[in-house]
Amino acid sequence: MTTTECVEATFSSSSDEEPPPQRRCGPQLLLLITPPRSNGSKRLAGRITTLDDPGRSGTVRRPTTTPATRAFRKAFFPQVADREWNDWRWQIRHRVRTLEQLEQMLVLAPDEREALAERGQMLPVGITPYYMSLVSRHDPQQPLRRTVIPTSAEFDRAPGEADDPLGEDGHSPVPGLVHRYPDRVLLLAHDFCSTYCRYCTRSRVVGHGEIVSSEQRLQMAFDYIRRTPTVRDVLVSGGDPLTLAEDRLDWILSNLRAIPHVEFLRIGSKVPAVLPQRITPQLCRTLRKYHPLWISLHFTHPDECTPETHTACTRLADAGIPLGSQTVLLKGVNDNVETMKQLIHKLLMMRVRPYYLYQCDPISGSSHFRTSVSKGLEIIEGLRGHTTGYAVPTYVIDAPGGGGKIPLQPNYVVGRDADDLLIRNYEGHTYRYPDPVT
Ligand code: SF4
Repeated sequence: MTTTECVEATFSSSSDEEPPPQRRCGPQLLLLITPPRSNGSKRLAGRITTLDDPGRSGTVRRPTTTPATRAFRKAFFPQVADREWNDWRWQIRHRVRTLEQLEQMLVLAPDEREALAERGQMLPVGITPYYMSLVSRHDPQQPLRRTVIPTSAEFDRAPGEADDPLGEDGHSPVPGLVHRYPDRVLLLAHDFCSTYCRYCTRSRVVGHGEIVSSEQRLQMAFDYIRRTPTVRDVLVSGGDPLTLAEDRLDWILSNLRAIPHVEFLRIGSKVPAVLPQRITPQLCRTLRKYHPLWISLHFTHPDECTPETHTACTRLADAGIPLGSQTVLLKGVNDNVETMKQLIHKLLMMRVRPYYLYQCDPISGSSHFRTSVSKGLEIIEGLRGHTTGYAVPTYVIDAPGGGGKIPLQPNYVVGRDADDLLIRNYEGHTYRYPDPVT
């Protein structure tokens, strides 16, 4: 790839959930692919150095990928060069989406095959080859596999579930804009994600091709924000905004930044976990123009914290973007202290602050993912005091019906004895704190 090339993304036009073809011209990322060492090592993926990052990658000695990804590439994409594999547009074009593809790559369980055969109006299936390489071929209960491969449990409807449990549609003054809190809004950039999570709170919206990044719709959203001076904070989410081309993202962020009362911009994205190739130096240069800009990332399991993801988060952090992680508590995926501790420790090492632990929203067909609230409290109790304070997320329930996030934590107040408050620490020891009742 040279600096003068124009790259035309050739997204499949047969899908109802694909973004329109996007043309990207102008300066491109120049990659130097260092060939595998000739010392007998069986490394498949070459080491990547970018011209934007001289010297850094060459001096840091850490793996560039995982054995699982190397083995997957060898099995299913043996002819694909590093240059293509590391190109985010190639990853999007080659997403795994059909029963036939999945039959080749996985030994499907009967309920997975049934769900894939009868998809109907459910959330589409889409998995980047990179993320697919982390999915177990044989084990339907593997945590990452559970999050992206549908099962027939998605068709079950439990009491209290709803397609729009947070009541977002009732707080939408213009299409794709949610105004639920006085000082902040959620702007859906589009409804496309590179990989679809089976527990997605917005599964009624994402992947259906109805919310697009059209100028007309977004201008309506900008106009609403312009005439609403109480809005000081805009969260751009989706769908995943980081799957947009740089020029489109640049246009959205520059329009928001030009509104005087908008102080703070946020982006919500799972891209570093499912499509880390997208976090290019060019993207980081675009993003850093719009500070203060924060990014909320979405991680569910320590297996997502690969060398590729580490590089992506490092680039974002080096661009001065504070990174926080939002994790959904999911049965059979991350609902134990040890898994959660591994995840939050790995996040800290990637300079990502564990921010929220969400109780899974009661979306339609989610009962197989939802744990009890006591399980979430047990996990927080197993973390608080037992590890670095920065690593402990705030456990919240997003109240059904639009009540907002309500924090929950174990009760550390044991009682009162006259003017002393009795409190317990993480080891269960009780302490007195002078707290006169006035
Ligand atoms: S990345 Fe976010 S918006 Fe997209 S499917 Fe996953 S949870 Fe939903």
